[in-house]
Amino acid sequence: MRILLIGPPGAGKGTQAARLAVHLSIPHISTGDLFREHTGQGTELGRHAHTHIRTGLLVPDWVTVGVLEERLARPDTERGFLLDGFPRNLAQAQALDGMTAGPEPRLDAVLVLEIPEAEVVSRIAGRRLCGRDREHVFHVDHSPPAVAGTCDVCGGELYRRDDDREATVRRRLEVYRSETAPVVGHYQAQGLVTTISALGRVQEVLDRALVAIGRGQVDDSCASSC
Ligand code: AMP
Repeated sequence: MRILLIGPPGAGKGTQAARLAVHLSIPHISTGDLFREHTGQGTELGRHAHTHIRTGLLVPDWVTVGVLEERLARPDTERGFLLDGFPRNLAQAQALDGMTAGPEPRLDAVLVLEIPEAEVVSRIAGRRLCGRDREHVFHVDHSPPAVAGTCDVCGGELYRRDDDREATVRRRLEVYRSETAPVVGHYQAQGLVTTISALGRVQEVLDRALVAIGRGQVDDSCASSC
């Protein structure tokens, strides 16, 4: 399956993408993670990307499209992929159309995570990530680790992303509204989009996502009472 996950910062794209990818046995490809890997390794590309990331702006398309192209060329994508954080503007969506052209359907589904902006700011302000495995995510109020500053899963040190400061989050939201939201229209025109709420527990959102891509069952246990 080839799936795109789109949503504003703080909607839980990374968390959901990691779980969905395991469920579907396809690689989870996050352009944000690819950039952070480069930055961590101190490559020139990483340093260049970081100047944009820390101010909440998009990394230029010529860098981003190149990084994604290289990743999609690896053999593990033959079974499909789950893209998290790409495309983030129309030019990237058109580049992806080109990269996925062929006899297969280009994409199977585009999931859009929806969340009120006030919730985004509060979620991100308290978000802490594990330095050892960035897929372990905590929140200082809503899901604090047992020992402050330490990952419950692997003992790694928790840190705050430097683009998670409030002013940067507001800039990232503006960029989402002006550049990424039009991408949804691009895929709506192809009949691929399902919008789901990103509110609720991680498992609830995952269940909605699985239903949206035809891999889960609707929970109608409270159909008459809720
Ligand atoms: P994320 O981890 O998806 O929240 O991405 C973190 C940051 O990486 C974004 O705020 C952008 O600065 C940059 N980034 C990630 N994906 C892209 C993309 N597709 N195009 C441009 N910049 C990106």
